[in-house]
Amino acid sequence: MRLAIISDIHANLQALEAVLRDMEKQIPDHVICLGDLVGYGAFPSECIQLVQKHCSQVILGNHDSVCAGIDSLDDYYEEAQISLEWTRNRLDESEQEYLAGLPYILEGEQTIYVHASLHCPEQWEYIDYEELLRLHFENQETPVCFAGHTHLPAIFGRKAMASAALSWNSPLPLPKDQQILVNPGSVGQPRDQDPRACYVIYDEAQRIVTYRRVRYEIARAQNGIRAVKMPSFLAERLAEGI
Ligand code: ZN
Repeated sequence: MRLAIISDIHANLQALEAVLRDMEKQIPDHVICLGDLVGYGAFPSECIQLVQKHCSQVILGNHDSVCAGIDSLDDYYEEAQISLEWTRNRLDESEQEYLAGLPYILEGEQTIYVHASLHCPEQWEYIDYEELLRLHFENQETPVCFAGHTHLPAIFGRKAMASAALSWNSPLPLPKDQQILVNPGSVGQPRDQDPRACYVIYDEAQRIVTYRRVRYEIARAQNGIRAVKMPSFLAERLAEGI
C-alpha cells in the first residue's frame, strides 16, 4: 500500500494544489490528511472541498476544532485568533459540521494517525521536547505513527528519542527495531525555514518514507491573506518558512 500523508494545509489553496499535482506522479493508493485544513490562510472552503475529493481519510486538527466550535479561541495568540475568527465566519454550516465530525485518531494494524500527540490527543500537545515525545510513545502501540501539528518534518525513534537526519525526495527506510513517529511536515505553512510545501509518501509494506518538497506560488497565497485583511505576518511567514 502506497500512501500519501498530508498535514497542516491551513487554507493555503496554492500549496495544496501544487501538492496534489506532485502527487499525480507518485500515484498513491490513498491520501490521508492529519488535520488543520483551515486557519491562517484565505481559502478554507476551497481546501475543505479538495480534501473531501482527494483524501480517503481525514482527522481533526486544533484549528479545525476551533472553527467547528469544539474548542475556544482563548488559547491562541492574536494573529491566530484573528484568522480563526475570520475562518469561522467564512465557513458555512455544512463545512463546520464536516470539521466537527472528524475523528481525533485513525488506527490501522501497523500504523496510527493523530494530529498532535497520542498522549491526550484533544489537548493538542506540541511534541517539541523529550518529555512530550516520551509521553507520546507511551501511548503508541503500533510500530509506526504519523502526527503533524508542529509543522516540522521529523522522524523520531522510541529508543533514540531524537530526529533522524532527513533528506528530500529520496527514500528513507524506517528502522524496524523500534517504534517510529513520523511528522510529515506542513503543506500550507512550513516552519523549518524551507518555504516549499511538504508532504510524505509512505510505502507501508516496505516501511519506507519519502519526503516531497514542492514549490508553489507563494505570492498568490500571500495576496489572498492580504486581500481579506488578515495580519500581514501570516503572509510574510510563508515566504520564509517560519
Ligand atoms: Zn497546524
